[in-house]
Amino acid sequence: MKMDLTGKNFIGHERSSAGKKTFKAINPVNGKELETIFHEATPAEVDGAVRKGEAAFKIYRNISRQKKADFLNQIADEFFAKGDELIQRCMAETGLPETRLTGERGRTTNQLRLFAELLREGSWCDARIDRAQPDRQPVPKPDIRSMQKALGPVGIFGASNFPLAFSVGGGDTASALAAGCSVVVKAHPAHPGTCEMVGNAILAAVQKSGMPDGVFNMVQGKSIGVGMAIVKHPLIRAIGFTGSFRGGKALFDAASQRSVPIPVFAEMGSTNPVFILPGAVKEKHEEIARGLAASVTLGVGQFCTNPGLVFLQRSEAAEAFKNAVAENFKESISGTMLTAGIQKAYKSGLEKLGATTGVLSLAEGRELGEGFQGKPVIFQTKAEYFLTNPKLEEEVFGPSTIITVADDKSDLLKIAESLSGHLTATLWANENDLCSYADLVHILECKAGRLIVNGFPTGVEVCHAMIHGGPFPATTDSRITSVGTTAVRRFTRPVCYQNFPDSVLPEELKNENPLNIMRLVDGKYTRERFI
Ligand code: NAP
Repeated sequence: MKMDLTGKNFIGHERSSAGKKTFKAINPVNGKELETIFHEATPAEVDGAVRKGEAAFKIYRNISRQKKADFLNQIADEFFAKGDELIQRCMAETGLPETRLTGERGRTTNQLRLFAELLREGSWCDARIDRAQPDRQPVPKPDIRSMQKALGPVGIFGASNFPLAFSVGGGDTASALAAGCSVVVKAHPAHPGTCEMVGNAILAAVQKSGMPDGVFNMVQGKSIGVGMAIVKHPLIRAIGFTGSFRGGKALFDAASQRSVPIPVFAEMGSTNPVFILPGAVKEKHEEIARGLAASVTLGVGQFCTNPGLVFLQRSEAAEAFKNAVAENFKESISGTMLTAGIQKAYKSGLEKLGATTGVLSLAEGRELGEGFQGKPVIFQTKAEYFLTNPKLEEEVFGPSTIITVADDKSDLLKIAESLSGHLTATLWANENDLCSYADLVHILECKAGRLIVNGFPTGVEVCHAMIHGGPFPATTDSRITSVGTTAVRRFTRPVCYQNFPDSVLPEELKNENPLNIMRLVDGKYTRERFI
């Protein structure tokens, strides 16, 4: 199958390959290089991309919400127009199976369509109107109105483990474009061909929808300098990042050291604690053990929502649970990891855990196959060790988890209090457990963005109420999500208009409410029009 890959950077509609540094994608199944030489962007190319983004932003921000919605839907259509070719290249670059990638493509296009719906409905812009009271005593009240407005060109960094949903056309790009921002995407070096194909799909949508040249830009690069050049560019107004703690923190630090600091919304790794309470473990330890093994090994454990920490109290049922988990792990097999670097980090993480005082290996799966294999491994420890070694809370990205056995409830609460920030926290509990461990729930509310009862954290629904975020170090800003429609708020800021004549106000704030959106008028939510 012929793939039209050029390995060039996207400076708006223009293709450029001025850089001398080149690289190729690696097939993780056999460790071999794939066709196509990719050209790392030079500082001048990054500058060109950002400047195009700035010029396009000035036009794009004023394009109607209907046209922006059509644009997002067109991107979704173009994704499908790439057909099997996109899936095949993505499989070759990531080692991920076809069913997973076709599912991920569906999720990515649904996400784009959800943002299109959000724009059509329109109320997301949070229009607020406090009408003037000229006769108010002792001083008249002015007319004050506000709404969310786009920030400007934003830099987007995707992760290796979601080559479609958290990459070039993923949630960060979709939410930035929905907000009214132009984007400069840093293509991920683990799947550069997939990035180019998705970039082509977005460019086709830009042209078919009549969007300005430069609303979408993409630069390739294997060295961190390319990403840093985006973050440090004075015209970039925010960063959306999905990836490792190391990468996200480096970009956050660089952004805060700029002479004009900018926000970095970095969604980073997480170990997603799971608490199994006494009633639940007694009633269904086998079901929980099966579910845990399936969740830990799903996608070779390469999910930011992988349950990497399990806590429960000492009991006979807890012992039976551990045995059942061990049986499930022994039956599991290894899978291909995304990159040589991820496999190396996983192996080294396992070695460090195995050599840690108080940590014992409970069971492991079998290693099968070639390439960058990652084998499931489960460890066990006791509360006293967990509480005195913060390293045990760190992410080991891959199919492993640690079970910590606590002596009693007070130990479990101490563990919960000791935790740092996570994307999720899970409780396996019956009704009685939930009542008698209400204090645990209150602690976990302060530790994670999403609390789950009787399920597992892998699998993140894309919807209006989803929160995929959490306190540091899970993210650099716990007040927002990177999945779901609220993600759009990362790329906007409120602007207030005082005493503006109706004729020059944005449509969203005009008296007659021409867009028929929900607004907060004098303290009440309404779609009312007035004169
Ligand atoms: P990664 O190594 O951090 O890479 C992500 C992106 O950041 C790449 O484009 C990378 O470019 C860039 N980058 C990394 N370090 C950088 C630095 N110091 N300076 C400038 N750019 C830098 O992450 P990954 O291996 O692709 O993804 C796996 C990680 O992502 C896991 O930790 C996983 O938990 C996390 N993740 C989080 C979420 C979430 O929503 N919270 C979702 C998926 C994955 P280079 O490769 O060129 O350095």
